[in-house]
Amino acid sequence: MTYPKTKIILILSLLIVLVSSVVTFYNLHYDAQSNQKRLIEGYDQVHRTYTETINDTVSFYHSRAEVNLRSYGTIKAFRERNHDQLYALVAPRWAVLQRENPWLVLMQFHNADGTSLLRLHQPDVYGDRIADQRPMVAYAHKTQRGVFGFEEGRQGLAFRILVPAFDRGVYIGAVEFGVASPYFTDKIRRFAGYESFFFVDKSMLGKFGRIEHRIEVGKYIGIDIPLVHRSFIESYAQNHTDLGNSVVKYANHTYDVNILNVNDFIAKPIGAIMFIRSSSDFDAHVRHIIIASIMIVFALIVLMVFTVDRIYTYVMDKMSFEQRYAQMILDSVPTPVIVTDGKELIAANGSLLGYLGYRSVESFKQEHSCVYEYFEPGDTDDYLMPMHDDQRWTEYMLMHPHKSHKAKITVGEITTVFEVRISALKVNDDIRYVVIFSDISTMQNQSMMDPLTQIPNRLHFKTVYQHQINVAQRNGKSLGIIFFDIDHFKDVNDTYGHLAGDRVLQEIADSVRQRIRLSDIVARWGGEEFVILLPQTKLDEAINVAEMLRVMISEKYFEGVGNITCSFGVATLEENEDADHLLNRVDQLLYEAKNSGRNRVVY
Ligand code: GH3
Ligand code: MG
Ligand code: MG
Repeated sequence: MTYPKTKIILILSLLIVLVSSVVTFYNLHYDAQSNQKRLIEGYDQVHRTYTETINDTVSFYHSRAEVNLRSYGTIKAFRERNHDQLYALVAPRWAVLQRENPWLVLMQFHNADGTSLLRLHQPDVYGDRIADQRPMVAYAHKTQRGVFGFEEGRQGLAFRILVPAFDRGVYIGAVEFGVASPYFTDKIRRFAGYESFFFVDKSMLGKFGRIEHRIEVGKYIGIDIPLVHRSFIESYAQNHTDLGNSVVKYANHTYDVNILNVNDFIAKPIGAIMFIRSSSDFDAHVRHIIIASIMIVFALIVLMVFTVDRIYTYVMDKMSFEQRYAQMILDSVPTPVIVTDGKELIAANGSLLGYLGYRSVESFKQEHSCVYEYFEPGDTDDYLMPMHDDQRWTEYMLMHPHKSHKAKITVGEITTVFEVRISALKVNDDIRYVVIFSDISTMQNQSMMDPLTQIPNRLHFKTVYQHQINVAQRNGKSLGIIFFDIDHFKDVNDTYGHLAGDRVLQEIADSVRQRIRLSDIVARWGGEEFVILLPQTKLDEAINVAEMLRVMISEKYFEGVGNITCSFGVATLEENEDADHLLNRVDQLLYEAKNSGRNRVVY
């Protein structure tokens, strides 16, 4: 039964592994999705912060420009291109603006002809033709409308807002404010919670001079990268040839890196904001989940193996009980019964095993396959043989249910004829036959039984007697014989009647049969004379048996009659002695016992 147990364990293990795998992969899939969702939400947050900051900054500096232009004398000084006067008027406000926003790096008045009128951040430099080098300024003059966007200038890359100035409907130039890029990265840190860095397309830079601390990633250059983050960006630059969303491992941490494109004033892409956030390290997460699943699978398998083992032990116990129970039923049948698949003996009852001379099915199977090996042919076709017309005996019986089936079996030179009946139980491919053997030779030999005492009569005794003499002589074994006769039995009949005499005969036959060995044979010789055959028994043992029986009978109280005695003659077979001679001898001895006073044993 170990095979199906391993099979069940294997199947259940596979099932556990399968279900756990499905659950694990479903979880991982779900986690991957929520991780993706988190990334997208972060991206949206940064994007919103960035555009809101731009909108707020643009409208804020538009209003600051209006305030300046409306203040007394400013438009006049602007229109008349009076550098010194304009500076004197605006300088105090510039100081306030710088305090408002430390990242405000420039404020400039542009004349409509493209020259610079006043740089508040650099008042000494003016009059140069700035519009030629700055497309944004040229665009503002051309359209006479507000413009904003990132552009490089003398102050480096900055987010610039140009506000047009009109004097009584006539365009006189533009006011420019410039905010350095950390203004945006600060906002992103404060409102979205992410570190971010500015990158600009290399082609957009260099007209106004060298960029300090340039960190290049492909065609981009990092701008104003804070010192603390420089090594991170450098490591990123080493491993990437272009800016792109990715997961970056740095100093034992994992970061999600996302890129937000940045446009110039005509919505042309000029660079990007890279923002980073500590990632939940999705790979590690996957690893943890897989390790956890493996551990759970292992625990489940251990638990399952344990449970299956327990259930098996329980079932096996139960089955062995069922088996014992079935054996008990078999054994309680007095006639031989076997269970077979037609070829092998599977179970047998004590009656069959005892009859064939084996103690167990196992010891039987060491020498035989099944009972059919004993089958002998008989004088009619009723007798079973191992095979009939290419059919196994069991199948043959099933195919011929109305036929009488007999089996002739000889054990220890005693041949017995059985009537055989069969029933079959088929479960899947297994078939079991229950075969019952009923001894019909006893019925056939009714004529050999004494009907009064139910022990063999003289006729039967003679056949057994001759056989036992043959066996004893062949094997050189001794054979004992006892003759006994009831004393004065005629008086019993005369005094108490025939029925009482019959009862005495029955009681004596019964009690003698109970007192002698199974292998001994008692028979009614005739009238009130009995004979006992004692195979493998020496003279002194036979005398002891006779003496024991004599005492037993003489001490017995016979209902309605009282005490009775018997006389015994005892002899054993002598070498080369024949059956009749031995009988004569023992009969003579009994006669002597009668003559010498009865109730005695003579040998
Ligand atoms: P002894 O001690 O010399 O043997 O005396 P006995 O009377 O027993 O001897 P006997 O041979 O004279 O008598 C035998 C009697 O047994 C005669 C007969 O009526 C009786 N008998 C024989 N067979 C049966 C039987 O089947 N039933 C009954 N009731 N009596 C039987
Ligand atoms: Mg007698
Ligand atoms: Mg007699």
